[in-house]
Amino acid sequence: MNRRSYCRCKTVQNFDYDEAAEKLRCKARWLEDNISRLPHQKMGQSPSFCDCELALIQAMFSVMPPDALDLVLAGDGQNETEKEPESVLALAAIRPSGARRSRSAS
Ligand SMILES: [Zn+2]
Repeated sequence: MNRRSYCRCKTVQNFDYDEAAEKLRCKARWLEDNISRLPHQKMGQSPSFCDCELALIQAMFSVMPPDALDLVLAGDGQNETEKEPESVLALAAIRPSGARRSRSAS
């Protein structure tokens, strides 16, 4: 998966461990311990994160109990709210990594 397939940043704005932890409201130590499983940029020794990567991390660790999911799905199409929360739009924009493989590889 290359960067262009998920990063929507118009300008470069990266966060280090402490800043990312502050935005996610998690422990910087947790980010460090799990960095191999988390989307991030690796430049030298210090990983960094853009907003899109933080959104992916947020999506990876969002927990939706079945009852709550029922409510979310039941709301679909019933009330015509044109304004969805920003986070929902961001999640909808995330696509599986395998979907965009170049077919011109042969
Ligand atoms: Zn980005």
